[in-house]
Amino acid sequence: MATLAAETVHLKTRDFDPRPDRTEYLASPLKRRTEGRSHYLIQFDGAVRPEIFSQLRDRGITVTGYLPQSTLMIAAPDDFSLDGLHVVWVSRLEHRDKISPLVSSIAGSLHAYIVEFHSDVDMNEARALVREHSLRLIENRNLAPHHLLVAGALGDLSRLASWDEVAYIFPASPELVSHTPVRACSGAIVQETAVAQNAGSAYSWPVTGSSGLVLGYVFSQVTEKLPAAAVKSEILRALNQWSGAANVQFVSGTDARALRTINILFARGAHGDLFPFDGPGGVLAHTFYPAPPNPEPIAGDMHLDDDERWQIGADTDLYTVALHEAGHALGLVHTDNPNDVMYPYYRFGKHLSSGDIAIVQSLYGASATTSSPSTPPPSLPLVLTMQTPPSTTTAASVPFSGTVSGGAGPVQITWQLTSGASGKAAGSPSWTATVPLVLGTNVITITAIDSAGHTASQMASVVRQQPPAPAPAPPPTPAPSPNPPPSNPAPSNPPPPASPKDTTPPSLVITYPAASVIATAASTITFQGMAIDNVGVTSVSWSNSTGTAGAATGTVTWTASIPLSSGTNTIVFRAFDAAGNFTWRSVTVVQQ
Ligand code: ZN
Ligand code: CA
Ligand code: ZN
Repeated sequence: MATLAAETVHLKTRDFDPRPDRTEYLASPLKRRTEGRSHYLIQFDGAVRPEIFSQLRDRGITVTGYLPQSTLMIAAPDDFSLDGLHVVWVSRLEHRDKISPLVSSIAGSLHAYIVEFHSDVDMNEARALVREHSLRLIENRNLAPHHLLVAGALGDLSRLASWDEVAYIFPASPELVSHTPVRACSGAIVQETAVAQNAGSAYSWPVTGSSGLVLGYVFSQVTEKLPAAAVKSEILRALNQWSGAANVQFVSGTDARALRTINILFARGAHGDLFPFDGPGGVLAHTFYPAPPNPEPIAGDMHLDDDERWQIGADTDLYTVALHEAGHALGLVHTDNPNDVMYPYYRFGKHLSSGDIAIVQSLYGASATTSSPSTPPPSLPLVLTMQTPPSTTTAASVPFSGTVSGGAGPVQITWQLTSGASGKAAGSPSWTATVPLVLGTNVITITAIDSAGHTASQMASVVRQQPPAPAPAPPPTPAPSPNPPPSNPAPSNPPPPASPKDTTPPSLVITYPAASVIATAASTITFQGMAIDNVGVTSVSWSNSTGTAGAATGTVTWTASIPLSSGTNTIVFRAFDAAGNFTWRSVTVVQQ
């Protein structure tokens, strides 16, 4: 047995410092559905050597993911042996390492989560496991192969995480919940596997001096579905997003096999690596993580599936995919924050978030003109606290405050809304930020990042309501003409008495279309949205200023097809709970 000191493994939940004790994991109890087989973490006494994958296979062991530093996640039979493989320690993911810090700090938000199962788990078993925990499965055909979308209480989610089959649980994006088409990334490739969602810190190309990172790029094969010049300019636009944010330069090269060079390759099916493309749909692209842990010359290479319908500014949008994949080429891993470009589902048409920028700056420094400070000394874990904000308000902005401690070097604290707005918090160790709110549900993420790239986040949701109207009769009726009676219970109907009385109205979000003023030539328009309530939404209804009204299909996630008249249509949506509380949103549609 090796006696070398283990290296710290950076998980999203904590820095994991296992003792070099290969039997430590036996002390923890195991809940599993598959007898005779379970999941472990194993760390090697140096870089993961390429031959290790076949050596593990020969012993009946499946690799399910990679974690910095030099650690593999594996599925192994109970009587497995690692003798002679230079393994420093063996352990398991603990229950606390499977729940994203963003999940545990969500206050009254969507309550929808992605449960990631280890890649060898039978997804029928995974579904059965979710149902046994009183969690609701939300079907979505856009999910990655080992993801399930679930809604339910944190307690049930936490019990689910104690099963060996579960790898990680993190917040679902509003797009997934509302069935807005999205596509998953299969993750940054390390040799024969991909970086696990549990991975907490990015890994940078080794950089010396203050000149930052210089990476070459070569277009060795571009798709013929678009003009070659347009393909190159869209991919360069994506690379330039990153070089504009951090001390990184991309330089046009001539040799695709040169060191520190991104070989950009469009290919179909099998194309010379271990990850053949899968035809239209499914995997769009994959990118190899930096060297080490990948060997040169493949480190940093970006491959795109030429069976996809590549487009510019529409699905499948080349810039969107290249922006995310370039993050992997720079060493970034998937984040848990649905606002980030590095969230595992591509963020169509989005630019880098404050979180993405903070991470890439932590790796390479802020810009080419400022040299990065010398390496900071080791430090305590980064901890971010936040005072719980009011869950509802009529104010146009809400003050947030809290403290930050630990971390390496200067810590930057930023806030971000799902609407895209973002800003910086002031002060350290006590910080404050004034966050502007839009009407309806605001999901706010506060992120602290230190100079070593460790992050800590807190999330909250605040519903901003319309101030009470001076007129005695809410809801507002934008229709100048008499409305037909609404097909749903009006707020004037006295609700059945409840004890204690529920006075919290539902939150109501229109997720699609995203604009509040829409011009169209169509005769009907379909809206999608979400309505979330502390007790339960009973109905979502709509009325159009042209005199029509109806009920939406669904509640938590709803859709409504609304007939339009020529000219201006002011459409009001209302979500009701059982106590008669309601929230409304309005949208103007101009039919031309
Ligand atoms: Zn990815
Ligand atoms: Ca594909
Ligand atoms: Zn490939």
